[in-house]
Amino acid sequence: MFRALLLAPPGAGKGTQGQRLADRHGVPHLATGDLLRDHVARGTDLGKQAKSHMDAGRLVPDDLVIDMVLRKIGGDGTGEILEGFLLDGFPRTLTQARFAYEWGLQFKRTFHAVIMLEVPEDELVRRLVQRGEEQGRSDDTEEVIRERLAVYEDNTAPLVDFYESRGILVRVDGTGTVDEVTERIEAGLEPMVPA
Ligand code: ADP
Repeated sequence: MFRALLLAPPGAGKGTQGQRLADRHGVPHLATGDLLRDHVARGTDLGKQAKSHMDAGRLVPDDLVIDMVLRKIGGDGTGEILEGFLLDGFPRTLTQARFAYEWGLQFKRTFHAVIMLEVPEDELVRRLVQRGEEQGRSDDTEEVIRERLAVYEDNTAPLVDFYESRGILVRVDGTGTVDEVTERIEAGLEPMVPA
């Protein structure tokens, strides 16, 4: 059963590629940004705590996000533990990555691959500004976009070393058409994932 993570800066196409990957491999697509936006929309306690961080382009505190993910993948003492999944937008910090690693060891569900989409920064800003105009997502304004990119650099870039040293990082060029990127991802995954 397929277990992988999608690591990519804002605007790199995580949502689109994440859904495709999950569908192709027959596993749930767990996107922490979508889950958090859903909590905000429903006005849950978590949503109330997360909203100001998200609107400012900062990360939601680790303990809140880890708790939310644990409830989805299992292991908090209630219900089943998922065998397969595509985690999209998580882990984003070393603390989250260490948690995910320990979880995998504890439940014999270590991850097969971490797909990292790479897109030049000016292209990311262009895509996000356009999405802001089209979809009106509250954090897609130029100022907040710059903050999110800086936050990614600071917090998420160290994960590259973490996963590279474990031999599961797959770097993928995220430019070009959606289909081209999907093909590159599948080609990169081939040696890593059980048939
Ligand atoms: P993007 O990658 O374009 O910023 P996401 O939908 O993945 O979009 O995330 C939106 C926001 O949700 C982030 O800016 C952050 O505030 C919050 N978020 C999502 N995933 C995490 C996470 N793993 N840890 C902390 N905050 C997160």
